[in-house]
This record gives sequence, C-alpha cells and structure tokens, in this order.
Amino acid sequence: MKHFENDLELLSAEARSFLNREHGVFIDGKMVLGEERYDIVDATTGRTVSTATDATLADVDLAVAAARKALEGVWAQRRPHEREACLLRLADLLQQNSREISEIASIESGRLLTNTRGIDIEHSILVLRYMAGMATKIKGATLPLSIPYIPRGEFDGYTYREPIGVVAAIVPWNVALGIAIWKIAPALAAGCTVVLKPSPQTPLTALRLAELATEAGIPDGVVNVLTGSGSQVGAALVRHPDVDKISFTGSTGTGRRIAEAAASQFKSVSLELGGKSPFIVLEDADPAVVIPAAAWGIFANHGQNCCAGSRLYVHANRYDEVVEGVAEIARSIRLGSPLLAETQMGPLTNLGHRDRVLQLVEAGKSEGARLVTGGGRPDHPGAYFEPTILADVTSRMTPVAEEIFGPVLVAASFKTEEEALLLANDTEFGLGASIWSNDTRKIRKMRRGIKAGSVWVNVHNALDMALPFGGWKNSGQGFDLGEEAVLGHTRVKAVVEHFS
Ligand code: NAD
Repeated sequence: MKHFENDLELLSAEARSFLNREHGVFIDGKMVLGEERYDIVDATTGRTVSTATDATLADVDLAVAAARKALEGVWAQRRPHEREACLLRLADLLQQNSREISEIASIESGRLLTNTRGIDIEHSILVLRYMAGMATKIKGATLPLSIPYIPRGEFDGYTYREPIGVVAAIVPWNVALGIAIWKIAPALAAGCTVVLKPSPQTPLTALRLAELATEAGIPDGVVNVLTGSGSQVGAALVRHPDVDKISFTGSTGTGRRIAEAAASQFKSVSLELGGKSPFIVLEDADPAVVIPAAAWGIFANHGQNCCAGSRLYVHANRYDEVVEGVAEIARSIRLGSPLLAETQMGPLTNLGHRDRVLQLVEAGKSEGARLVTGGGRPDHPGAYFEPTILADVTSRMTPVAEEIFGPVLVAASFKTEEEALLLANDTEFGLGASIWSNDTRKIRKMRRGIKAGSVWVNVHNALDMALPFGGWKNSGQGFDLGEEAVLGHTRVKAVVEHFS
C-alpha cells in the first residue's frame, strides 16, 4: 500500500483554511479560544492537522448558562414555523458547504469521503428537513374529565408538550456530524437549546456546524459546542444542575456511567449505545445477494458502525459458500486514502483503536476461532487494519461477545431457525438484526423472535429519518430519529380548567 503524504493537497481551499484556523469552543454565538489545547491527528498519515480547545469547567458553566438564557428568552419567542425555517436554512447551508464539511469530516475521522458525503451531509439534510416539519406538528390531547370528588361544575382537560429544556448532546467520532444532527435537529424542533459535546477526536465538524447554525438564523446560545475530554467536559455536563436532558450516543460503558450520574438528579436520558448486530442467512437466501450485502454490512465505514452486521449466522448448507464468498470480497478491498474515489476502506480512527481491534482478533484466535482472512496491520503509519473474518465461533468467545467496532466479522452456522434465534439473541446487545430469506413464514417467526430495536429483512442497516432508531438491552434506551425523537425532547403538562 502507498503512503499518502500529500493527502491535504487533495482538499478544497475552504477545508484547508478551516483546518489551519485556531479553534475554540463555541458559546453564545462566539468562538472563544482556550489556553489548554490538544492535537487533531489525521488517522491516514498520523500527522497533526489542526488543534482544538480543551474546554474548562468554567466553559461548561458559561455554555449551559447561554443555553438556559436562550431557552427562556429568544428561542422561546420563536414560533414553531420560525424554528422550522431555521432548520430548513441549516439544511440548505449544509448542502452549499457539503464539499468542505465532508472533507473536514474525512480528515478528522479517517472515514471515506463517499461515506461522509453520503451520511454526514446527504442523510443529515433529510433529517434536518424532516425534523423542521415536526416543529409545527407537536400536539397534545383534549380529554373528557370526571373528577368525581369535585361534584360541582364542569371541566376542560387537556395536555400539551413543552420543550424539555437544556439538552447536553454527547456524541461519538464514528459518524460525528451525522449523529450531532440526529441530536440537534429534534431538540431544536421541540424548542430546546443544546450544548453539544463532540468526541475529542472529531471536534471540527461540530464547530463548523455551529457557525452554519448562526448563519441559518438560529439565535446565539441555542447551539453551543464544547470540545475536549469526555471525563472532564462530558461528565461535568451530565452533572450540571441546569441541564435537563442528556442525549448520548457512544459506548455501553460510558452510557452506563452517564445513566448512573443522571439518575440522582432524575434527568431525562436517552442513550444510543453499542451493538453486535446479527446478519442471519436462512437456507433459501440467494448467495449472490447475500454475500456482497454481508461483506459491506460489516466493512462499510471500516466496521465502525454501531449497527454493523458483525455476527454472521448462516444455515449449515450454505455456510462454507457464504463465508468463502465474503472472504473473497474482503481480500479484494482496496485500502487507501479516504479522500480518493478508488479507496474502499480507509484507516481506523486512531492507532490505539487499531491496536485494540488487533487484540480482540488475537483473543479470538487463541480461543479457537478460525482465521479465514485478514487479521493484520498493513505496513503503514496510518491506523489501517485488514478486513478480517473469524469463522466457527461460539457466543462466549471474546470477539463474539464484545463490540469490536472495526472491520472484523465473526461467523458460525446453524441448522434450524430456532437455533439461529438463540444465537442471534445470545448477546448483551440489541441494536439491530437482519434476516435474509424469501420464505415469509420463516421471516415472520424470526422478526418476532429477535430482541433488538431494529429488524431488517433482506437489507441491513437501513435507517430512515422517519423511523425511530433505538436499542434494546445494553444497546440503550430512548430514540433518535422519527417522531419519537422529537417527543423525547418534550414534557407533558396536564391542565384542568374548572367552570363552576
Ligand atoms: P465513547 O463512549 O468513548 O464516547 C462517546 C462520547 O462520550 C464522546 O464525546 C466522549 O468524549 C464522551 N464521554 C466519555 N466519557 C464520558 C463521561 N464519563 N461522561 C460524559 N461523556 C463522556 O464512544 P466512542 O468511542 O466515541 O464511540 C464508539 C461507540 O459509540 C461504540 O460503542 C458504538 O457502538 C457507539 N455508537 C452507537 C450508536 C447508536 O446509535 N447506538 C451510533 C454510533 C456509535
């Protein structure tokens, strides 16, 4: 594999100029430079490409205060159609600046440009437009009341939904901008204000988004961004008494810590956590359809997808053919610069993560899994890892039980649908699952038996802005996307009016 020393020369002038800027935190509509700084490293070359501010506890207080002031002031005065217009303008600005933003996203994360354009820009535009429309559609109910212990008079009873308040949106690096939009769009549609904390590795797209929010006419203080460490900035946001809701996406371990910390203050919490999604191939499925789908179900975004089809279960009569077919694709995948159109897989997000992926693969081998292909690090300074398949696994093996979040597929066979369901559900996670078959009776049985928030039939990882997306079991609680995401940013007030 070539070294990509001239990666930055492939960038637009706008993206280069943004990387060269001094980056601060974004509070109350202003960029504020901090003294504590850290490096942003290009995962492709290992070189520092920019620096960011490590927010202080004082910054956390200022950002939350700005969000509170906007919540009760300028944002509360905007009517629903005005919030809608702001989100629509933000969608348009994302479109207009798509090249610059997708390039920044690729540089800070190592993800393919085709992926950052498709997910962080195109999908986000749809999410923003969908959520914009929801701003004018939040409703309550009118109810006939009895209240027998107040015998005289008449009642009108109704409910309405108020914005839940200041939202701390804490997001990971794997789809940094896309997930930030999943959080911000429903919050703003519901009338909330936000303090966004991106992953320390991917702060730049969040900062650019905040600038575009201002350009879109979103008032100062409605969207604030604090960059820096999770254990300091993120934890301080979770503890902050003036934060009403935590909307978190990240690992199950961090999610558990956040849920515990938020519980003592009875804060609303929505948690989108880790996954280990099964990809289940029944005997009648067409291998020509299933093989490429299984390969890209895991290797897309270099396996760094919460819903990656990371566990492949195939009927015994098809197992060898499907595993070998996926392995053939894995061996042919072109690793390279995320900015080049011919690249099919870029680096993992950093060297530490790459080494953890390697450790999990090694653990699987020592526990008896069969290495079909991959398993190694190419000789390159970037955080590359070969597309890897471990076959003949059992549920208790480390790379089967743990989320790897890299390009590693584990595979096993089954003989009956009952066995397939047992294997699919034999996990702490419950984010997504796909079933591959044309037999409607079997599909129905499987989709009813799967314990996960999303089930896909003859497709994998199919997310839509109108469909609620959330995890079961240790994959989380609450929803991103769909009407549910907006309702999760509201609280219900019940009103009784008495006429004597
Ligand atoms: P992570 O849990 O390490 O970090 C996520 C965010 O939480 C970061 O911004 C981090 O700085 C912050 N954080 C860390 N410690 C904190 C603390 N004590 N208090 C508050 N905030 C804290 O996750 P990651 O490595 O950035 O992302 C990968 C994980 O995200 C994977 O497990 C993946 O499955 C999950 N993920 C889930 C979904 C989903 O929708 N279910 C989507 C994408 C990623």
